[in-house]
Amino acid sequence: MKLNTFTLTLDTDGIALLTWDMASRSMNVITLEVMDELEKVIEHVVVTPEIKGCIITSGKDSFSGGADLTMLQQISSGYEERVKTQGKELAMAYLFEGSRRLSVLYRKLETCGKPFAAAIHGTCLGGAFELALACHYRVLSDSDKTRIGLPEIKVGLFPGAGGTQRVARLMQTGDALQMLFKGEQIKPAAAKAAGLVHETASREDMIARAKAWMLGNPNAKAPWDMEGYKLPSNKVYSPAGMMIWPPANAIYRRETSDNYPAAKAILQSVYEGLQLPMDLALKVESRYFLNILRSKEASMMIRSLFISKGELEKGARRPAGVPDNIFKTIGIIGAGFMGAGIAYVSALAGLNIVLLDRDLEAAEKGKAYSHKLMSDQIMKGRAKSADRDALLARIKTTSDYKDLKKCDLIVEAVFEERSIKADVVKQAEAVIGKNVVFASNTSTLPITSLAENSSRPEQFIGIHFFSPVDKMLLVEVIVGEKTGDKAIAAALDFVRIIKKTPIVVNDCRGFFANRCVLNYIREGHLMLSEGVPPAMIENVAKMAGMPVGPLSLNDEIAIDLAWKILQATKKDLGKKAVDPQSEAVLDFMVVKHERLGRKNGKGFYDYPEGKGAKKLWPGLSDLQPKKLDADTLNVSEMKQRFLVVQALEAARTVEEGVITDMREADVGSILGFGFAPFTGGAISYIDGMGTTVFTALCKKFTKTYGNRFKPNALLVEMAKTNESFYGRFAKDAKKAA
Ligand code: NAD
Repeated sequence: MKLNTFTLTLDTDGIALLTWDMASRSMNVITLEVMDELEKVIEHVVVTPEIKGCIITSGKDSFSGGADLTMLQQISSGYEERVKTQGKELAMAYLFEGSRRLSVLYRKLETCGKPFAAAIHGTCLGGAFELALACHYRVLSDSDKTRIGLPEIKVGLFPGAGGTQRVARLMQTGDALQMLFKGEQIKPAAAKAAGLVHETASREDMIARAKAWMLGNPNAKAPWDMEGYKLPSNKVYSPAGMMIWPPANAIYRRETSDNYPAAKAILQSVYEGLQLPMDLALKVESRYFLNILRSKEASMMIRSLFISKGELEKGARRPAGVPDNIFKTIGIIGAGFMGAGIAYVSALAGLNIVLLDRDLEAAEKGKAYSHKLMSDQIMKGRAKSADRDALLARIKTTSDYKDLKKCDLIVEAVFEERSIKADVVKQAEAVIGKNVVFASNTSTLPITSLAENSSRPEQFIGIHFFSPVDKMLLVEVIVGEKTGDKAIAAALDFVRIIKKTPIVVNDCRGFFANRCVLNYIREGHLMLSEGVPPAMIENVAKMAGMPVGPLSLNDEIAIDLAWKILQATKKDLGKKAVDPQSEAVLDFMVVKHERLGRKNGKGFYDYPEGKGAKKLWPGLSDLQPKKLDADTLNVSEMKQRFLVVQALEAARTVEEGVITDMREADVGSILGFGFAPFTGGAISYIDGMGTTVFTALCKKFTKTYGNRFKPNALLVEMAKTNESFYGRFAKDAKKAA
């Protein structure tokens, strides 16, 4: 049989080995061709008497990342055209069959009458793990690199090729729902303990194990196709089921605020599917899947969190023609909170670090942070002590600038003070190589002005990390007026090596992320002054899709920092540039009550020592001469205020040329400050409702709440024709449509 994406061999025992290895790709993915060939193979196995069964494995270092999401999007995008030519009913039928092809194919494999097994090494995710679930036997390699999982929820989808049905028939319902909701990757031992796979074995042994099973089980059937099969958590309508479903519904609402249709579809598919025989259950799952595939949330999330994020990570914004940088040693100046974190992520990526501070003790303190983080990993079983030793050996501490001599890149993270930064630039440039790029991690000082201290401003750039550095995925690369392509390429190469997602932003006060997020925090302050109950401010923000409320967030980043930024803005730009109400709230907290946030245990919340949960500070009441009754407040308008005030700032950054690529605004807003991911990001939020509606909303809010909601000229112009940001600005309009 001629196959492109697989090879099929038969051994003398009659066991076929189907090896998946797509020549054109570094990772196997499910494409139309893969589906066609898998179908051919199943049919061939069934009609060939010499074949007793078939083991599916991968010829690559990983099994597969799952379905090609762009293919899934294409399936749903042909609908409108077909409606025109064939009518709605036929178009929908076509779409339904197309979107469930994988599900039908896997069921065909499962019921073909001959045993199939999967022997899996490396990553096996999404549609690929659904393939394994449809096999009658699953062996995982016990390697550190092996992970299984169904992460579809992370891009607004859900496992629609039988995943919800098979997982819920293998595991207790509660565990199955958790797995589907979280989309986490699961290690071999945990997968075995959960009953998701039958066996773990060494990579070398896994095919032999699958074969041994197969030779003893010539007529394999899935458990749910056998007489007497019982659901792991008993029937849905049973006393046990009643213990599961009402809380499951409540947990779903608590975790999603009903913002994620895919999460709801998981609940519905499992709830309805478990009451039906498998074939019908799969059909129910397929119906929900098509709905989700066509949802705005899925298309926005796929675009931002899968396609755009992937493109940015692969260097979409890297200047063409600059050769790849080979970095061996990175110099980090300032071993405080941020410098220590940057040293850790860089050393983790295998780079050598020279960590410099004012004295050796301070530098050692910074290095100790890496010791702590690695020790935490060891405690969690994610690293070995040899890994920690090796990582620490890569970090050299010093207080002597001469040690920076051989560094290939410098990242500065000293105090946020112009004079100190200027001095550091001079000292470093006196020793480093002529072509070495110097990056500042400043959070507020414009890069163009800092570059004035450099004798090579074209090699001066901002690399703005977010805290905590080891957890936050985004890095803003800030381009000053004189920054050259070589420096941009160097910054992007570095960010790629340390496995973060970069966005390239032109220089301005607050850059991109902080500008938007400070507006969110300020909206929380203003609601407080208006008399909105503090708990309601926090909860409604989460209902809008933000990961934490504005008051909590301000506590985390420090209230005195927000106060300092406000004072600096006032000093530089004048009184009108800051909101007097927000200033009054910050004065009250910082100056009057020394409530600085989590760092001193006192902020908008009280942080009890020990393990007690934080509680909103009762003293906030003194900030509210007028107190509004929660029942009279318009929750949907409050939710919109939180998102609109950030999205509007994003629109301003586009008009000012700070953001030039819409993908970066969207990815940056989700990864940088958690902007409601289901919207696809701050710009997709505007495009999603249309610039006409968004601008009208801004105008309405301007009347009620003030000029901070005034739409900028660009928006007003675009609103006239409901022009979208992606339509107007995307480099590749077709890709973004
Ligand atoms: P920090 O106070 O924790 O650390 C600063 C470190 O710089 C200290 O260890 C200090 O000893 C050292 N230092 C000061 N002067 C020095 C000199 N002349 N030579 C060598 N070392 C010197 O501060 P941080 O929070 O790590 O912030 C550092 C930089 O990162 C600032 O520019 C800040 O704006 C920026 N930043 C901070 C955050 C954040 O959340 N903290 C986020 C993004 C960016």
